Amino acid sequence: MSRIAVLVPGKIHERVLTRLRESFDVIQTDPVALDAQAAGRIRGVAVSGTFNAAAIDSLPNVELIASFGVGYDGVNAKHAATKGVIVTNTPDVLNDEVADTAIGLLLNTIRELPRAENWLRAGNWKPGQNYPLSRFSLKGRHVGIYGLGRIGQEIARRLEPFKVKISYHTRTRHADAPYGYYPSLKDLAEAVDTLISIVPKTPQTHRTINAEILSALGPDGVFINVGRGWTVDEDALAAALKSGTIGAAGLDVFYDEPDVPASLLDLPNAVLLPHLASGSVPTRNAMADLVVDNLIGWFQNGKPLTPVPETPVKA
Ligand code: NDP
Repeated sequence: MSRIAVLVPGKIHERVLTRLRESFDVIQTDPVALDAQAAGRIRGVAVSGTFNAAAIDSLPNVELIASFGVGYDGVNAKHAATKGVIVTNTPDVLNDEVADTAIGLLLNTIRELPRAENWLRAGNWKPGQNYPLSRFSLKGRHVGIYGLGRIGQEIARRLEPFKVKISYHTRTRHADAPYGYYPSLKDLAEAVDTLISIVPKTPQTHRTINAEILSALGPDGVFINVGRGWTVDEDALAAALKSGTIGAAGLDVFYDEPDVPASLLDLPNAVLLPHLASGSVPTRNAMADLVVDNLIGWFQNGKPLTPVPETPVKA
């Protein structure tokens, strides 16, 4: 009996391919390259990146699309749902890694640690010469978290031992969260001096970190983004950092990756990372396993492990 065919369009973590090949017939190609017969055989998809409505429509018998990563904005999950197709993502297994990275990025931004290391490596540390004192300290700050979901909550928990004040903004109040709630992002930005963004890419979050929010954050303000670049008006951010409207920023994500605007690259008060918040070997292995386990869960037990909310079945 032939095995179930799973399509892998584009690049994906090697462990996904290795493990998929143990249970499935793996077909690595763009869906547009499949003829009707080959397309009709595909029942599962494992994807890291984009899988749009046209790609879904091209596979008449697809049942489940397993997306690598917790943010599944590249997969048209709403369209999939209209056709009864399940979409899964990889939540929770990366919470700790992303929250750790957020804290590291926050400290690097506030204490200028990457700049200080570059200064040392450039041979500037000589007798009588010290790296200048950092303008900012984490001590005594009021940190606002924009998005208090799985990862936002882990960031908040990690911030507690730093003895900073913690507040947050989401659309719905978390009754059990021991932090100050602000029903609007503007009110949060006005109240805090440090803002961490960890919201998903949705139509509602588009460029919500704009000139008005940055101005509310103020000249001692520090902005950290580990969510999506989509959430930020990068022109407004570069202008705010240049003019001193805010003090510094640490960014792991950008609007049009991997393009990072020159206006940000040129700034000394921005710490810039290449979208690596979940990027350790153990965490990416766990994400790869969850991609495969969702496909196995569905095709062997009729139960996907981590379906997204739009999806027609519940976990
Ligand atoms: P969750 O779905 O658990 O949490 C999302 C949070 O954002 C919720 O608290 C939600 O609250 C809030 N939110 C959503 N929309 C809005 C809105 N319009 N206004 C205010 N708050 C909003 O997601 P995760 O914590 O698991 O992940 C968050 C995002 O982080 C992912 O979608 C992904 O894009 C990004 N990410 C980035 C990584 C990186 O490598 N840099 C790695 C992993 C994730 P409510 O619904 O009440 O508004």
